[in-house]
Formats: sequence, structure tokens, C-alpha cells
Amino acid sequence: MILQNHKVMIKKNLQTLGLKVLHSMQIKYFIPILILHLSFSLSGQTPEYVSPVKIPVFLSGNFAELRSNHFHSGIDIKTQGIIGIPIYSAASGFISRIVVSPTGYGLALYIEHPNGTTSVYGHLESFRDDIARYVKSKQYEQESFRVDLPVSKSLFPVKQDEFIAKSGNTGSTGGPHLHFEIRDTKTEEPVNPLFYPFPVADKIAPHIYSLMITPMNEFAHVNYQAQKAIFPVEFSEGKFRLKNNPVVPVYGVVGFAVQANDFYDGSHNRCGIYSMRMFWDGELYFSFRMDRFSFDESRYINSHIDYEELINTKQWFHKAWQDPGNRLSIYDYIRDSGLLRVTDGNIHIVRIELSDLHGNLSILEFRVESKSHRIVPIRTEYTQLLRYDKANRFSEENITIDFPENTFYNDVEFMWKQKPASENLFSDIHVIHQNTVPLHNSAKLSIKADKLEKELQEKALLVTVDTLTGKISSAGGSYNKGFVTANIRSFGNYAIALDTIAPRIIPLSLNDKSALTEFNRIRFRITDDLSGIKEYTGILDGKWALFEYDAKTNMIVHYFDRERFELEKRHQLTVKVTDNKGNENIHETSFWK
Ligand SMILES: [Zn+2]
Repeated sequence: MILQNHKVMIKKNLQTLGLKVLHSMQIKYFIPILILHLSFSLSGQTPEYVSPVKIPVFLSGNFAELRSNHFHSGIDIKTQGIIGIPIYSAASGFISRIVVSPTGYGLALYIEHPNGTTSVYGHLESFRDDIARYVKSKQYEQESFRVDLPVSKSLFPVKQDEFIAKSGNTGSTGGPHLHFEIRDTKTEEPVNPLFYPFPVADKIAPHIYSLMITPMNEFAHVNYQAQKAIFPVEFSEGKFRLKNNPVVPVYGVVGFAVQANDFYDGSHNRCGIYSMRMFWDGELYFSFRMDRFSFDESRYINSHIDYEELINTKQWFHKAWQDPGNRLSIYDYIRDSGLLRVTDGNIHIVRIELSDLHGNLSILEFRVESKSHRIVPIRTEYTQLLRYDKANRFSEENITIDFPENTFYNDVEFMWKQKPASENLFSDIHVIHQNTVPLHNSAKLSIKADKLEKELQEKALLVTVDTLTGKISSAGGSYNKGFVTANIRSFGNYAIALDTIAPRIIPLSLNDKSALTEFNRIRFRITDDLSGIKEYTGILDGKWALFEYDAKTNMIVHYFDRERFELEKRHQLTVKVTDNKGNENIHETSFWK
């Protein structure tokens, strides 16, 4: 059982952020006091942070909202659907790190502040000219588009509200926006930026869509069924309640979960909820708050939510209980793991409270009745029991899987079978348990490669197989001593495949007579059929040339650069692209510019 002191936690959070701590603070007064503190700093001298944009702040994403395999570590500020909105430093300090990547945050700036925090600005289109020149010189020095540059303190000092970059759509994005983060510099933990007086209007309380009740032991039932049940929720007379207001019959150990989102004024985007508390007959059983977390623990989201429901129906449910293998730090009070034993024959009241950081509160209240009922337990045949807190090995003639300690959040009744595969695959298909059970750590999967001829061994990799469509996707890995081995992070259908096909290079700025069709740049689309692109190089007139790479559009682009490029002559360009299995394609061309 985990029990942490609210006061101590909040104090720790605010102290590490350099904020003043009020010692008499209690959790129920936390939000009003915080707002008092912030309005003080608003009306007083300069605020600690200012908005990084000069346009009205609307959010398309908030802190700790639920994303695939992670919690969102910042806020996403809308940029009116366009790129090129000027970005300003939220506080004084110095640029401490600059990252350029074809995925993730794309172009990103990190600014370290004297109060012990670092602000992060992601998916930028471009850096301010002097910063851009510095980055480009480092890219030519390292002969790499992708760079991660630590920057010394004296190089780019910045004042609060100083222009630093333009917003964009670089890296892993679904549209133009600014990803903005505040981190504790020492621990690198992201903290909730809305602790600070950002001009974000929020009068909208979280919305609750549905409730899930899960029977948690063999003889438990919900609505006389051994499976979990989902109840639609409606809003009436200022409160959320179950549709038609039923008294739900349950028995045994049960857990609750809710599907909910929060919203900000003037924006339709679904955001994440800040905190949740679950009460059983007026007593608190479970509580979390999204104040801060560490990147190391972000993957525990797969235990925080009902993972099976996400995989099957793409719905996100916050569970109000803690799995034994879930070490997430956001839970500030948990009693009996958040689970209820309902065997007393009585009616009970469950109350779930959701709130945002601006004090808007939503309440769902409903009744359950303890009703004894003969349930035929669902017993499944399984191959092996895997303990969540132990290292486990599963081994058969053609397959071995090593699961390190703490790979699961609960014990797993592991199932495995073999199926014959189609002829493009070089092993049977191994049906490895179910993709609805999450893996926290990577497991080492080895499949016997007895159908593989020697000269093809270096082209072998593991793939996941969609048995409905036959579609295969790379799971990586390589041949070693009669097996193909890869680290996997999800269950599913696995087999051995080959990648012998080189990546494709498609010119986008050259016509069939090799004449340039674009004025200031030259672009190519680069794609690979299976193992994925490992590296690419552009050599222009015998020298390494910077090609920017955007993985989501498969595009590489070189901008002609007066400092490094001589005009009015014929140029030689070689583009070389290699995949993860060593297949290589070279595109050579010459053009006049
Ligand atoms: Zn973001």
C-alpha cells in the first residue's frame, strides 16, 4: 500500500520550482492558494514566466494528457494553424541545449533559468539567425543533420520576452503548434506549466463520458457478469450520473475507471484531466495529481489506463486502482490499492471527483449494491505463469523469450502457439500471448532460423504479422547462432522475414532532363519497404551537404547556401540511402544552377 503525505509532496514540488511554500497548506486548499499566489505575482512585479507567444494562448494539448506509451510532458500552444509565429523566451537565462531531429521535438531549444528550471520549445520551423548560423556550422562540423548540442552559458544569454525562434511543424507532429515545457533543471523532470500564470482561460470543468467497473477476482461480478462493464454517463442538474441512474449490482473485489477529458475556453481540443479522487461511502480510496513526473516512468501510463480497452476500442480510461507492478509517482493517496471488496449485502455510494488546475470540478456519483450471485469463473488454458516481479524465461524448441524483472504490471497467464506462415516468411508465425497485455520493459525474443540460407542470414529480421491482412512490420533484430533475435515491447504475432530491397530515392525538384524545377532548394523522397532508413548522405560537388530530413513526410531537402555553394555552374550531386539491413541505393545526378 502506498501512502504519501500531500503536504510534503506539494512542498517538494513548489520548492524545487523556486516558489514560496505556505506551511499551513492542505490539499483541499491547494488550488485556491495557488491561484492567490499566482495573482499576486501577476499584479506585482514581473511574472516568473511570460507566454512564449504574442498571440492569444489556446491549447491543443495539456500537461500529462494521455498519449501512446507516454504522458504528454508539456503544453501544446496553437499557432493559428500556420508556421512562422515568433517565439519568445518565457524567462531570462541562457540557451543550454539545441536539438535537431527528424522525429520527436524536431528543432528544439532549451533555455536554463536561474530559478532552477529549464524551458523547452519544440517543433520549431527555424532558429533566430545567429543561433541558426551556429547550429549549421555544427551540423557541417559533425556532417549530420541530427545534432544534440550542449551550449555553453556565455554563448546565447537571453532576456525574458526575447525573440528566439519561429514556430513550426518539425519532428513528430500532427500539425503546426508550439510544444512548450518547463523542467526541473537538476532532475530533468517535466512539471505542469499551468502552475504559472499563463494567460489560458479555463472555465470549463472536465467532462466524464463513461464509467467502467471491472470484476477483479474469480467470483466477482458486475451486473451478474464476470467481465468488465461500461456504463454511459450523462450530465444533469449540475452533476454527472449514470444514464437512467441504475443501482449497479456487484459482488466481490471490483475496480472503477472513468473515461474523461478536460477542455479550455475557446478550443475544442480534448485535453487531459489534472486530478482524480475516488470516494467509497465518503472515504477517500484513490487520488492522483498531474504535477510532475519523470521521463523514466512515463511508460507506466499503460498500467494507469485500461490498456486492453485502448487496444480494442481506442478509448482511454483512467483506472482508480493501482496494479502491483505500477510504480508511477502521481498517486498521492491510495487505500487498499484502490480496490473495493463488496460482500456485505448493502448499497454503497461511489463518488469520483475530477478537477483541473483552475479549480473547475466535476463529480460523478452512483450507487452499487452488493448482490451475491453464482458466477462460473472464466478459466483459460495457459502455457506458463509469468510473475510480474520476477525475471521469466519461456522456451520451446523453436522459440525463446527472456522477460526481465518488472516487465508486467500483473502476473500473466501466458499463452503461445505456432501457426504455419505464408511463403514470404522464413519461420512459422508465433502467436505470442495477446497484444492487449502491455510490456513495460523490452523482452528478448529469439526465433529459430532453420529455413534461412547462409547468404541471406544478414538480411533477416523479426516482423509482426497482421494475420487478417497479411501485412508485416519490422520488429528489428538480427541473426545470431541459428536464431533471429530482437527486443520486443509488445505481444503479438511474430515471424522471421528478409529485407533484401534497397531504399527508394525519388527526385522531387528535378525533371527527367535533370533540370531544377525549384528555385532555392533540391528535394528527394526517401522510403524503405521494411527495415527502415538507417542513414542518408548528400554529397554536392564532392563535399558533404546538409539535407534536412522530416521522417513524417519521408522528405530530405537541401537549401542552396551562398556561403557554401558556387552559382552559375554545373553541379554533381550524389544521394546515398542505407536501410537497417545494409541495403543501399545511390542516386547520382548533375544539374545547372
Ligand atoms: Zn506537445
